[in-house]
Amino acid sequence: KEWVRMERLSKVYPNGTTAVKEVDLSIREGEFLCFVGPSGCGKSTIFKMITGLSNPTGGKLTVMGTTANEARKRSDTAFVFQDHTLLPWSSVIDNVMLPLALRGVSRKERQQEAERVLAMVGLQDHMRSMPRELSGGMKMRASIARALVAKPKLLLMDEPFGALDEITRQTLQLELLSLWRQDPEMTILFVTHNVFEAVFLSTRIAVMTPRPGKIDDVIDVPVPFP
Ligand code: ADP
Ligand code: ADP
Repeated sequence: KEWVRMERLSKVYPNGTTAVKEVDLSIREGEFLCFVGPSGCGKSTIFKMITGLSNPTGGKLTVMGTTANEARKRSDTAFVFQDHTLLPWSSVIDNVMLPLALRGVSRKERQQEAERVLAMVGLQDHMRSMPRELSGGMKMRASIARALVAKPKLLLMDEPFGALDEITRQTLQLELLSLWRQDPEMTILFVTHNVFEAVFLSTRIAVMTPRPGKIDDVIDVPVPFP
């Protein structure tokens, strides 16, 4: 199944900046695809278009068979950003339950599902903590739990580990891989400027040129541990 399709996808911002230029790419279900390229090459712009936060100015973009603007309203897409965006006045578990609350899931089920994903990311002992009481790595784990709680089919991660120290980053990379392997239907799109991170994590790498963002090459990564 094809999850995302870009055909000559382009974005020119109102100030005239061409951020993305005629990108062609097809992403299949279950892939872990990394976008790699220098800062400013248009990676975040591609993500914003996939999530419907920004409109393409040229070409065509389909996400799970619909236009990206419709995709924004869907529950099967979740995002994780570098600046984790937890609500500061809500406890960890309240933050994680939020996406389910917005979907009208019952309190009991919200609680169960939040506890399940918090255990998956190793935060079972910090559910009642406030975000400010957590380390950077723990905040990122909480953000990942919040993204996973509604069982998304498409997970978009924009440099999620960029601000973490090396040990925390490597730990979270391994955890993310294990979560992804547990769900063969989950497609992950991951932005990084770190080539090593991309090779370690992904099944395919889209290499982007410096501005204006074009895809230079798409490389298959051999699987080291089948
Ligand atoms: P990356 O995520 O690869 O660092 P971005 O997608 O953020 O790149 O940006 C691509 C280019 O578009 C950059 O030159 C950036 O300055 C420019 N840009 C990003 N957002 C806007 C905007 N809203 N308006 C004008 N230019 C923008
Ligand atoms: P849309 O795709 O819905 O038209 P945009 O992604 O183009 O929305 O951004 C909305 C507005 O924010 C634009 O008018 C843009 O000029 C402004 N903007 C946001 N970030 C930047 C930036 N880094 N540089 C210049 N303008 C920006």
